[in-house]
Amino acid sequence: RAKEQGKANYQFFTADINAEVSERMIIKNGLSKALEREEFTVYYQPKCDLATGRLTGVEALLRWRNMELGAVSPVKFIPVMEETGLIGTVGEWVLEMACQQYRIWRDAGHPHMRVAVNLSVRQLRQPNLARSVEEALRRAGIEASGIELEITESMIMRDTENAIDVLRTLSEMGIHLAMDDFGTGYSSLSYLKKFPVHTIKIDRSFINDIATDPDDQEIIRTIISMGHSLRRKVVAEGVETEEQRILLRKLRCDEMQGYLLSPPVPAAEIDRLLASLRPGPEA
Ligand code: C2E
Ligand code: MG
Ligand code: MG
Ligand code: MG
Repeated sequence: RAKEQGKANYQFFTADINAEVSERMIIKNGLSKALEREEFTVYYQPKCDLATGRLTGVEALLRWRNMELGAVSPVKFIPVMEETGLIGTVGEWVLEMACQQYRIWRDAGHPHMRVAVNLSVRQLRQPNLARSVEEALRRAGIEASGIELEITESMIMRDTENAIDVLRTLSEMGIHLAMDDFGTGYSSLSYLKKFPVHTIKIDRSFINDIATDPDDQEIIRTIISMGHSLRRKVVAEGVETEEQRILLRKLRCDEMQGYLLSPPVPAAEIDRLLASLRPGPEA
């Protein structure tokens, strides 16, 4: 009996692994045709100033909807694209979309609506990154200050010398730079001064429990004050509750992003948000 059960468990176990491997294969195959089949879209998630509530910009987030798989999370398909190298082409496409969208918002009278784009490890390593950014800006007819690039600490740590050079070049062009998922790497604050970033985005794992966990509150307080003393802007990611917002505001965090304000949405939804938040003529 026990033997039979053991065998059954083993079968379940291999079935799980097989399912995982074949899911990855299906994702890989699907991705190879996704661009030509126009299965990618870009959503935008707004950020706002914690003191005034004013929208300060958006983050471009890639979305993939496939016939068989439905909507697939970037957490699943971005690593596969990193592996196959497809992230290079798709990353450039996202940047292109972001630049065009910034142009539309700027021309509609919202020049402060900077659009942030996530960079991949591969893109950061590409020797022509600065040039391809420059070309995307030129095609859209926008200035560099309309775009922000987000990189994570672990991306920089993999190749510190080269990464800092690239970031410096981009920064000198006038591109804004943000350190994403801040606090999840190893070195955090001691390395921050070496990285030429304008903004740090505190990872949402620290924001989750700030209303109840005094340790997390202390960590946030430290990140904010250190960030400010190094003249960085501090953004809180993943803000979901009113309590978190009030606390972050009290801690003098500059901006917030999260479901409380809005989930990632199509550009048209951002237009609506801009219209609804715009004070009327009498306000
Ligand atoms: P990220 O850059 O840290 O983006 C923030 C993620 O947090 C997004 O997940 C967003 O939908 C989610 N989020 C925002 N507010 C909340 C909240 O209040 N609660 C919770 N639980 N989640 C929230 P998403 O869109 O699934 O993207 C996941 C990651 O995939 C991104 O993390 C980024 O690392 C990567 N990614 C997405 N689009 C791109 C892209 O175009 N290029 C590259 N290289 N990476 C991308
Ligand atoms: Mg990001
Ligand atoms: Mg993040
Ligand atoms: Mg993340």
